[in-house]
Amino acid sequence: MIDSHAHLDDRQYDQDREATIARAFASGVEKIINIGADLAGSIASVELAIQYDNVFATVGLHPNVFDEFDESQVQELCNEIRNLASNEKVVAIGEIGLDYYSHDENSITPEQKENQKKSFVAQIEIAREFNLPVVIHCRDAYEDVYEIIEKYPEVSFVFHCYGGGLEFTQKLLSMNNVWFSFTGNITYAKSDLEVFGVVKEIPLERIMLETDCPYLTPVPHRGKRNEPAYVTYVQGKIAEIKQISANKVDEVTTRTAKKFLSLA
Ligand SMILES: [Zn+2]
Ligand SMILES: [Zn+2]
Repeated sequence: MIDSHAHLDDRQYDQDREATIARAFASGVEKIINIGADLAGSIASVELAIQYDNVFATVGLHPNVFDEFDESQVQELCNEIRNLASNEKVVAIGEIGLDYYSHDENSITPEQKENQKKSFVAQIEIAREFNLPVVIHCRDAYEDVYEIIEKYPEVSFVFHCYGGGLEFTQKLLSMNNVWFSFTGNITYAKSDLEVFGVVKEIPLERIMLETDCPYLTPVPHRGKRNEPAYVTYVQGKIAEIKQISANKVDEVTTRTAKKFLSLA
């Protein structure tokens, strides 16, 4: 099994990072992809990957990073990401994308949206330059993300923590360079929710597993800190929804993640 999206550089692991990684490998996780979400996180991600053979890194700037920077600062940040991208343990650019969900009562401004779009495009260009796939973070911005990635048929994309609707999913399925990954939040859903239909609709060969730890802890550990070992609950839920064996989910999603990330 591969946890294709973890944030083990998070300070919540400062006391027991090594033990957390050991627990993951002991419970059947073969590789962990640690995701960069800002510059410091991307640097930490590369450092962690250098430290552990079976931990790999992505580097990138999450859309919310750009809310507070002007154009020249964004350019500078992207240059830093380009420098990191050449490290041999870097397997993708991400998480990058668009996030229009607002954490306060002020909704996102048109300027902020433009800034996010420009920065997303600039980082896709880095992925193209280094021939790396892209990990997309998308919240409340599916159509705008689609409009951008449509222009890059030669780049491979995965929508992490996928939450798109059925109709949008079908649109993405018609592109042959798009994959989907699911987190523990699918264990929260009641069986009548749309996400079940979406999981059923997506061929297993286009699905990857992730925890997004320390966030989105799956049931039965919901409410506690998440960790890569819990990716088995996501595996189990997908097996249940698709009515196939958990082994099959492991086998196929592991193969897909290795191919997507060019891992041996
Ligand atoms: Zn994300
Ligand atoms: Zn994440």
